[in-house]
Amino acid sequence: MTLQTLSIPGKELEVLGLQASTRVHYQLSPEELVEQAVISGEGVRNDTGALCIRTGEFTGRSPQDKFIVKDAVTADTVNWNNFNIPIDEKYFHQLKEKMMAYLNQRPAVWVRDAAACADPAYRINIRVINENPWSNLFAYNMFLRPSENELENFKADWHIIQAPGFKADPAVDGTRQHNFAIVSFTHKTILIGGTGYTGEMKKGIFTILNYVLPHEKNVLSMHCSANMGNEGDVAVFFGLSGTGKTTLSADPARKLIGDDEHGWTADGVFNFEGGCYAKTIDLTEEKEPEIFHAIRPGALVENVTFLNGTNTIDFTSKEITENTRVSYPLSYISNAQEPAMGGLPANIFFLTCDAKGVLPPVSKLTPGQAMYQFISGYTAKVAGTEAGVTEPKSTFSACFGAPFLPLHPGQYAEMLGRKMKENKVNVWMINTGWSGGAYGEGSRMKLSYTRAMITAALNGDLNNVHYEAHPVFGMEVPQSCPGVPAEILNPRSTWSDPAAYDVKCTELAKEFIQNFKKYADGVNEEILAAAPKV
Ligand code: ATP
Ligand code: MN
Repeated sequence: MTLQTLSIPGKELEVLGLQASTRVHYQLSPEELVEQAVISGEGVRNDTGALCIRTGEFTGRSPQDKFIVKDAVTADTVNWNNFNIPIDEKYFHQLKEKMMAYLNQRPAVWVRDAAACADPAYRINIRVINENPWSNLFAYNMFLRPSENELENFKADWHIIQAPGFKADPAVDGTRQHNFAIVSFTHKTILIGGTGYTGEMKKGIFTILNYVLPHEKNVLSMHCSANMGNEGDVAVFFGLSGTGKTTLSADPARKLIGDDEHGWTADGVFNFEGGCYAKTIDLTEEKEPEIFHAIRPGALVENVTFLNGTNTIDFTSKEITENTRVSYPLSYISNAQEPAMGGLPANIFFLTCDAKGVLPPVSKLTPGQAMYQFISGYTAKVAGTEAGVTEPKSTFSACFGAPFLPLHPGQYAEMLGRKMKENKVNVWMINTGWSGGAYGEGSRMKLSYTRAMITAALNGDLNNVHYEAHPVFGMEVPQSCPGVPAEILNPRSTWSDPAAYDVKCTELAKEFIQNFKKYADGVNEEILAAAPKV
């Protein structure tokens, strides 16, 4: 096993506060990291060779514990809100010092040099310091992997210091509770403690890019997946968690650019990341073959359980969490685009998982409607997971990614609007959620139908079909679509009680209008006119 210490030339770990006596595992291969995790008992290989671990107390992000240091750089630029919570710089220094003292007392730490942004013009170098090998494997899978040559002269632009076992003391450390993620734009460092949920690292870097790229580089950062057809036509898929970005961008007929985070420049789109982070709940080989086959050596599977007496993952089990995940390098998808860049988008999809069963499964938006929907960022989740009927709960998250946006949503929306006009992009709305009634009555749209709708939109098969405007939301609804039964295209006619549909539809329209009030002052007539009519 490679054991390297601080003598790694030019690595400057001392400046972080790592002592010379601390054992550092630098830049280990995935095989070495997996071996270490298995030997220490932190992980187990499943029957296809992937490393399966448990992230501990936290199996998802904790938005209420994510802070941005409020200082001269951020005070007037960050849009302080429920997701951008200010913290005093003194707590950042205090916690960083405590974390380094904690790490110096560990048997070893894992250090990895990585990068973000596939477009070399915007690349940032990231040095990740972890308490355990599997968190370091996550960094290997999800960030860009520098070449030997790049490592020679590697200079970190940003640092992530991540110690799941370190707990803050809220009484003296300025945090809400023992776990935290703190971003300092001045010190270009992200501190993550008290949580082993790996997604905090990836979304931490996403947060900083959502600040740096639009604010300093005139690049639109987006919470979306992206893929590309054989003719080089790029499609991007915006959507909140669980709406289908990862699932729908893995399309055997198109090259995958990325599944979650992208930038849009004057020349095209590029992925921020080097890997995918897919949900595995109810995963089947038949429905999602690309993701299923990515679960192999090197992949990191989180919070799953095995079928009794085997090392076979029980993908149906929610025993630990519903948010079971797997991370793997982009190249594990058979048709990944390398480097992960493409031209200007020809089609934009807004994905929503409308558990109310109101929005059409596929529709076309005018530029005004597109802006209205982008600012609204709607999805409806099922509130509880208990048996019986639970009311779907609407979520409005500006730009389909409010938790990750340090700037005012208007800044992203304005850039998107400009780019859509300049490039004459088609904008579609896809409801991957309920049909035939709300949650409890109807059922989720079949994945094969959603895929057929997207394929039809991309192939131009929806260019010459008959459309009808939705009476309340206004979007144009195609009345036929290859591979999809015509009767499911109009949601109202899929409900056994159309009058109940109208009630639900009015209810949702009112929620949209209520939510939009806070943006109404800052937008033009064209966007305001795209509001639903009640
Ligand atoms: P996150 O931002 O959390 O990564 P995501 O937008 O990438 O979320 P997915 O991971 O693709 O979302 O989750 C969509 C889930 O819904 C998957 O588990 C998928 O199998 C399931 N699903 C069921 N029906 C559909 C459908 N019609 N379209 C898309 N996904 C569907
Ligand atoms: Mn995803």
